Parts: sequence; C-alpha cells; structure tokens
Amino acid sequence: MRLDDGVHLVMSGGGGFDLTDAFDCNVFAIDAGGEWVLFDAGAGRDMAAVEAVLAGDGIAPATISHVFLTHGHADHSGGAAALRELTHAIVHAGPLTAPMVAKGDEAAINLGRAKKAGIYPAAYRYRACAIDDVVEEGKPLAIRDLAVTMIATPGHSADHVSYVVERAGRRFLIAGDALFYGGKVAIQDIGDCNIGDVCATVRKLAAVDFDALLPGHLNFTLKNAHRHAEAALAHVERFACPPSII
Ligand SMILES: [Zn+2]
Repeated sequence: MRLDDGVHLVMSGGGGFDLTDAFDCNVFAIDAGGEWVLFDAGAGRDMAAVEAVLAGDGIAPATISHVFLTHGHADHSGGAAALRELTHAIVHAGPLTAPMVAKGDEAAINLGRAKKAGIYPAAYRYRACAIDDVVEEGKPLAIRDLAVTMIATPGHSADHVSYVVERAGRRFLIAGDALFYGGKVAIQDIGDCNIGDVCATVRKLAAVDFDALLPGHLNFTLKNAHRHAEAALAHVERFACPPSII
C-alpha cells in the first residue's frame, strides 16, 4: 500500500490496518532508488498475503535488498527467515536482537509466555533467521539514496532499536514499539520491559530530528511527526509514564 513517494506499508495486522496476517506488525518498505529496504518482518505466518501486497505495489521480491529488525518479538522478527528466503536480502539487527533471532530463542523473545497468555496461538512456530549484519548505534549505513542510522531504544524490550532513515531531504523515524502516535509507548508485564528505560528512550527520541513517524503498530504520521515525541516527553518531564497502547 503506497503511503507516500517511495514509502509503502507492506504488512500490517490486527494492531494496525489488517493488510496481512493478524499477527504482523507494521512493515514499511522504503525505495532506495532501484532497490527496496524493509523495516521489520512481521510474524511469518502468511507469506502468500505478503507476496500479494508486494505484487500489488509493484515491488518485486528480488528488488528487496535489505531488511532491518527493530527487536526480537515474534510479530516483528518471526517473518525474517521467510523474507530472507524470498528476497535474498541482507538482514540487519541490533546487537542484542541478533543472537535471539539467529538462535530462534523463544524464551528470550518471551514467546513461551505470550503463548500461555493466549496472545499467540500455541501452534505458532518461530523460525530462526541468520543475521547478516549487526548494526552499530550512530553509524549511518548508506544504501543508494538512503542513509539508515540505528538508535538504541530499550524499554519496551531490552534489545529494542529504532532507525532514522534519511531520504530526499526527509527524515523518517522507524520506531518499532518504542514510540507511537499520540505520544504513547508499549509497556508489558514481561521480563525485559523496563519503565525507566521506556522513559529514557522517550527523552532520547525527543532529541532526535525527524518529520515522519513510522511505528510498529497503529497509526503513522507523514508530516510534523515530532509532536508525538513531544507529547510523550511532556509525561516523562512530570515523572509520569506516557500512556501505553497495551
Ligand atoms: Zn514488541
């Protein structure tokens, strides 16, 4: 689904726009100029639906050259293995996400607990995915017309990272589950969710320059998006936690 010049939504589930499988997070494709870069990978439960969206958008799988993961949760990284097979893309992840995804470590990504809680079906199987590149914070990666810079944004989970993508004078924040529309965050009662880190990440993102917010769930904003970071910061500055989408 085309959102803007060179920006497509290619997966989105029940916590978004029901474009693909219900468990998929929002997955964005950004045109680097002749090749496409994807951010996050969905849950990997229904690749036929993903292929149909890509075909409808005129994105040939072979032109997807890079996939960047924000964190190890299954709705974001469970589709990485299938995407890597389909596209032969280079898969990038943060230093803490990489080993979880490479090992398919269901305990580290809290999938066992999520299945017990009924959040994921018991039959769901997470597929491990080889990670081709471990991204370093603050070191921009040039991919044709794009510059992609990782920012460590722990809190929702310990391994969480976000990305700033510069394209044609615009700056997109790929926020994963670190920051949402309206200045919300995502707090869960799971082992590596840390409220202090959630708030520190809000402060960090509020200091980052961006004009579009592309989060892992719910709505996105194509212009003047910094207001969402400022809304979250207003809570943090009063020593309060921003409201959670969960
Ligand atoms: Zn998550």
